[in-house]
Amino acid sequence: MANPKIEENVPLAPFTTFGIGGPADLLTKPQSKQELVEAVRWVQAEGLEWFVLGAGANILVGDKGFRGLVIKNEAAHCEIDGTALTAESGITIEQLIARTVPKGLSGFEHYVEIPSTLGGAMWQNLHFLSYPHKQTRFIEEIVEGATILSGDEEKTVDKGYFKFGYDTSALHQNDDVVLDVTMQLSKRTVSKLEEVLAKNAEWRHAKHPPNAVKMSAGSIFQKIKDVGAGRLIDQAGLKGYRVGGAEVSPKHANYILNVDQATAVDVRKLIAEVQAKVKAETAHELQPEISFVGEF
Ligand SMILES: Cc1cc2nc3c(=O)[nH]c(=O)nc-3n(C[C@H](O)[C@H](O)[C@H](O)COP(=O)(O)OP(=O)(O)OC[C@H]3O[C@@H](n4cnc5c(N)ncnc54)[C@H](O)[C@@H]3O)c2cc1C
Repeated sequence: MANPKIEENVPLAPFTTFGIGGPADLLTKPQSKQELVEAVRWVQAEGLEWFVLGAGANILVGDKGFRGLVIKNEAAHCEIDGTALTAESGITIEQLIARTVPKGLSGFEHYVEIPSTLGGAMWQNLHFLSYPHKQTRFIEEIVEGATILSGDEEKTVDKGYFKFGYDTSALHQNDDVVLDVTMQLSKRTVSKLEEVLAKNAEWRHAKHPPNAVKMSAGSIFQKIKDVGAGRLIDQAGLKGYRVGGAEVSPKHANYILNVDQATAVDVRKLIAEVQAKVKAETAHELQPEISFVGEF
């Protein structure tokens, strides 16, 4: 087994869209599925804590960082055969759009401008109310199967294995690592795909805070069916409310923004205050949808 290339004491803030987070004791950047497997096997043998990091778009890393090995997944090989596509899990949605849209392949145009690796998309069942904005599209719709590392075993699984739901998958309950994913796309004209990309981008620009990909983790709280977390926060009068350098977005109340060198502690305090105020005013309990990583 080859040892992974490891860097020490690496600040994690630049690897997250929040731009927040202390150092990882150890960090490695696997460039292929094989290197990803080797990194996980190495860290398991060493008995250290570990964490697979994608685009860092759905996590808050603690100010004191992470004790153990962060595996920053950069395995991004992709093969297309007709309408079938197999890609390594560190590929980004942006890269997948660039690879498929010019070929007239439909499947990723719904998720334009969402920061995500394919692995992170599988973890959370990436979704968007895509143009014409009548129906939420989920990444699971195009997934056929995947190879995963489960414990020490590399295995091929089908889509059912992931038990996809809204903002969730079986990956929340285990330590499985997605290595690559096989998907079935469909044919559509390039001009139609470009129209959907443009309409989705326009819709996002109208509704979401500008620069959110550089200062937030997207929606902070889970959706409350037929109510909407953002609407409750707005009703509680919290748009623009701040703790330290963290602010509830004045534009989209379910986004918390790092507006002025916010710490992870600022964000945690703001989350707790929003939960308490919304509970007091509306009796609804908001639950975070992001993950908290490392030491706060
Ligand atoms: C501005 C902005 C807008 C957003 N808009 C949307 C939206 O419209 N719809 C939506 O669904 N989400 C949205 N998000 C949230 C985020 O983009 C998604 O949740 C995305 O899928 C996270 O992927 P990631 O690669 O960044 O994962 P990370 O944040 O790096 O990791 C998230 C979790 O996935 C796990 N993980 C990552 N890779 C693997 C792997 N290979 N195997 C197993 N587990 C893995 C990690 O360990 C971690 O637990 C938005 C975020 C931002 C910042």
